[in-house]
Amino acid sequence: MKKKNLLIITTGGTIAMKYDEVFGIIQNDEMSDYLLNFPQIRNVADIDVMEFTNIPSPYISPEIMFKLAKLVEEKIIEYDGVIITHGTDTLEETAYLLDLVLTTRKPVVLTAAMRSGTDLGLDGPRNIVGAVRVASAEQARNKGVLVVMNDEIDSARDVVKTDTGKTNSFISLSYGPLGIIDPDKVIFFRDSVINEKIPTDSLETNIDLIRCVCGMDDRYINCSLSNNAKALVIEAFGRGNVPPSLIPALKKALEKNVIVVAVSRSYTGRVLPEYGYEGGGKYLQKMGVILGGDLRGHKMRIKLMVLFGKYNNPDLVRKYLLNSND
Ligand code: ASP
Repeated sequence: MKKKNLLIITTGGTIAMKYDEVFGIIQNDEMSDYLLNFPQIRNVADIDVMEFTNIPSPYISPEIMFKLAKLVEEKIIEYDGVIITHGTDTLEETAYLLDLVLTTRKPVVLTAAMRSGTDLGLDGPRNIVGAVRVASAEQARNKGVLVVMNDEIDSARDVVKTDTGKTNSFISLSYGPLGIIDPDKVIFFRDSVINEKIPTDSLETNIDLIRCVCGMDDRYINCSLSNNAKALVIEAFGRGNVPPSLIPALKKALEKNVIVVAVSRSYTGRVLPEYGYEGGGKYLQKMGVILGGDLRGHKMRIKLMVLFGKYNNPDLVRKYLLNSND
């Protein structure tokens, strides 16, 4: 079979870092050459490499993610697929933003490393080879943006970084991986039936995420409101319940036509309008809070940035969210 023509876009992260005695783990230009010249990569596909940036992923802002999305959109016309190397810390946010805004059917695969260049059991080379193999696979088409780590393939929407150090950190906690990468072949076991696309030419970044903790007051909500946030994502308890101390500030937000979306701070599961007490999910929904389904808070924040970027109108965003499957 003819080799695929793929583009690797590098953005930095641990995969491009090495230990330095003075500074600790930092970016290192040699790492890219080392990683990208593994014979296993070139045997699988014809590869071009392009550096987009070389920064740790905590430095990656939504604006940078959006620029990267536009670059992928432009470049993928010339290639059979694109692989992006990224830091693990914010990889799931970049992957999800790309997943929402890109409409290509071609494979777009993000990968990273948990271990830097001087660590024993370096996972970067294996992950890049895995990502190239996945991007070369016919079945990887039309699957949305994929994340490849530790011989597994996950959907951008579902995967989360679950562990700070282990190489099997990236897991789709609710639904499991889409497939695996075995030595002889790449195998997909399932499709994600959620294939949401929100193509947009701009992004609205003034969206806040507030996590519920017991005994909290409303100061973060008030701070968001005084900074003119367009929407608030509240990471509520369990099925979507918040302490009553938040209610006056949430009412104020809704009166100002600020969208409020409740998601759960639990690791898996949906929010639902079950509890009718003051602050319960049913009570919140009656007030006008939107219940955000099974999306985790940081991903709902990205989705709202994309939705406000596209519609720039809270009523349209509300309508969109109320009519989506979440
Ligand atoms: N702090 C690093 C980053 O996200 C971690 C990593 O890449 O694994 O850039």
